[in-house]
Amino acid sequence: MQLIIQDLNKTYSNGVHALRGINLTINQGMFGLLGPNGAGKSSLMRTIATLQEPDAGSITLGDINVLTQKEDLRKILGYLPQEFGVYPKIDAETMLNHLAVLKGITNSKERAETVKVLLQKTNLYEARKKNLGGYSGGMKQRFGIAQALLANPKLIIVDEPTAGLDPAERNRFLNLLSELGENTIVILSTHIVEDVKELCTDMAIINKGEVLYKGSPLTAIDEVSGKIWRRRITKAELTEFKQNHKVISERMIAGSPIIHVYADQQPDAGFESVQSDLEDVYFAKINR
Ligand code: ADP
Repeated sequence: MQLIIQDLNKTYSNGVHALRGINLTINQGMFGLLGPNGAGKSSLMRTIATLQEPDAGSITLGDINVLTQKEDLRKILGYLPQEFGVYPKIDAETMLNHLAVLKGITNSKERAETVKVLLQKTNLYEARKKNLGGYSGGMKQRFGIAQALLANPKLIIVDEPTAGLDPAERNRFLNLLSELGENTIVILSTHIVEDVKELCTDMAIINKGEVLYKGSPLTAIDEVSGKIWRRRITKAELTEFKQNHKVISERMIAGSPIIHVYADQQPDAGFESVQSDLEDVYFAKINR
């Protein structure tokens, strides 16, 4: 099954053109949608999840026309939104059981078994009697995945899931995502390059509503290989370097800036070659 997005456009009533002719074909496996804040990721995710309408374009999942057969899509969709609210005074097991009823799992024995398996899978079984209000950020996100998996989804969308998680929680969450079936399309929308690098076999970079790159992360890294140069400079030199070179990123290390420059040849003897990374690809595309 493939998710095919064609010529998708959306302008909000305030005039923001959030999606500008998006074309993407997404296969089974883990797909990373990478872009800075405001790039249009959530707009795209919400449109695929049938929560908002585009102005133009089409989306199909297998033989489902997502924009007209919303109910059919929702039956096989697992969606974890950016802001995932939970009822604070209900424990995880009760809540999941309740959501399972809403999903139509009416047989109580089957439901109890499903809930148990999902709590175990998301490593929440021990904390199943604890109220959701007392859950950490990572536990809430894992609960979000548990509820998203209730319907045995064929398409799973997770929007910015690791923002605000500490490193250990983030690892646990990413490991959980990576275990989701190979027969499922999982779209991971994020502004964190590492998330995509670690997990995704295929990806797209979007900015200002446009797709700037689509392909595998490894191919993307290969494409800029040998073209990324690093130099330590002083703060005072930064403006000048930015004027004269294609500075794709700058970061402070021990109080002075290290810049990465994109160039076919070594810009001057002060620069050293660095092994390119997905982060370089990302910044080269975003800051082009
Ligand atoms: P991302 O998820 O990549 O941060 P969004 O899709 O949330 O990006 O936003 C893309 C652009 O659309 C931003 O400029 C944002 O301010 C704008 N935007 C998002 N949602 C709305 C909305 N409901 N009404 C008006 N503008 C919106």
